[in-house]
Amino acid sequence: MKKVQDYEFWFVTGSQFLYGEETLRSVEKDAKEIVDKLNESKKLPYPVKFKLVATTAENITEVMKEVNYNDKVAGVITWMHTFSPAKNWIRGTELLQKPLLHLATQFLNHIPYDTIDFDYMNLNQSAHGDREYAFINARLRKNNKIISGYWGDEGIQKQIAKWMDVAVAYNESYGIKVVTFADKMRNVAVTDGDKIEAQIKFGWTVDYWGVADLVEEVNAVSDEDIDKKYEEMKNDYNFVEGQNSSEKFEHNTKYQIREYFGLKKFMDDRGYTAFTTNFEDLAGLEQLPGLAAQMLMAEGYGFAGEGDWKTAALDRLLKIMAHNKQTVFMEDYTLDLREGHEAILGSHMLEVDPGISSDKPRVEVHPLDIGGKADPARLVFTGREGDAMDVTISDFGNEYRMIGYAVEGHKAPKPTPHLPVAKQMWTPKMGLKNGATQWIHDGGGHHTVLTFNATETQFQDLATMFGLTFNDIK
Ligand code: MN
Repeated sequence: MKKVQDYEFWFVTGSQFLYGEETLRSVEKDAKEIVDKLNESKKLPYPVKFKLVATTAENITEVMKEVNYNDKVAGVITWMHTFSPAKNWIRGTELLQKPLLHLATQFLNHIPYDTIDFDYMNLNQSAHGDREYAFINARLRKNNKIISGYWGDEGIQKQIAKWMDVAVAYNESYGIKVVTFADKMRNVAVTDGDKIEAQIKFGWTVDYWGVADLVEEVNAVSDEDIDKKYEEMKNDYNFVEGQNSSEKFEHNTKYQIREYFGLKKFMDDRGYTAFTTNFEDLAGLEQLPGLAAQMLMAEGYGFAGEGDWKTAALDRLLKIMAHNKQTVFMEDYTLDLREGHEAILGSHMLEVDPGISSDKPRVEVHPLDIGGKADPARLVFTGREGDAMDVTISDFGNEYRMIGYAVEGHKAPKPTPHLPVAKQMWTPKMGLKNGATQWIHDGGGHHTVLTFNATETQFQDLATMFGLTFNDIK
């Protein structure tokens, strides 16, 4: 996976001076124990760092300002061990520009009936302390995440883990740079959009570069690098020559490896982590990048075809959120409309991400009946089974909409020996008729990101962080 930087989350515990120094020491000790045990649980993808027992408006404001300026910190987790007067939190919470998780929990998961006295109750006031604090977040329309339950439970830790992944993706979103080689496909509507608004809303930088600049990098790749990679790839993929001569198969596959190295160097040298191509503009390239794009997607680069920079950026964003597990660029292609068999066959003209393959991908070389270029090498494989989410972003002029639904992924009921591309099948959970009707009604496009890793809750959280409503088709 193309790496993101190391992140951490800060843990801030609310209290006040009213209870005296001894109580505050207990609060600190308990908070540190929660943090240590959360880290030791190995359930969280990023470390949590205990920061302070917050007792005044000044120290709360100070820590939130530090969070904003420290690039290592992806977000804040707050918990009220005791009562913490929430007017103290107003300024700091208002200033906070990073994701906020209010963990409404309690140090012990039970009430110690045999020993409970009023000192114990004064120290363990989360039940009302968390309400006082939560009111001010609601009053400020902070739209923060709330997770309520015992911090030691595995289910709660998994919820925190999933939220952390969203928070890191949100932080990383402001650094996503997409390069579009050529513009988007002529006359196509849904893949177009306002790049300035996308940068304001999601932080995405979208730059056009002429194909000639890419051709220069592609032509500069050394034959030694290509030959070495060609041999290495025989471990990961089955090379299937088919009807091609050995010379043609090898040449066309090696040309894709040349494009892979050229694209990779072009992007790495300039800080891009996502890209688009367009079969309408390939001047100077022998083939539309197929295998090349697939190899880059496997490494975590975002991609979408036909100049669709929105989906390319979304692909990169969701790959970060999902640690590049089973999260891929996809396109609705062909339907099975028979009752009881309703399904969508998803694919692309070449560029299907092998991150969802359930068999060993085959390198094959076939003609591409569009674009008028040499026969491109591509990976052909079968997709997987399981729960997934299918999501897209559309530009409605005055707003961006993130549209998606839960789907059931499955394999084709029969082999498809004449289909020269990879495929994935799925059916919307609410049924194809209802799902497709609503998707089309809501203006969702044909390019999507399909993920077997990210959850519905994560999309709700992600949209909330961006100040959007997730258009969740049910
Ligand atoms: Mn397409």
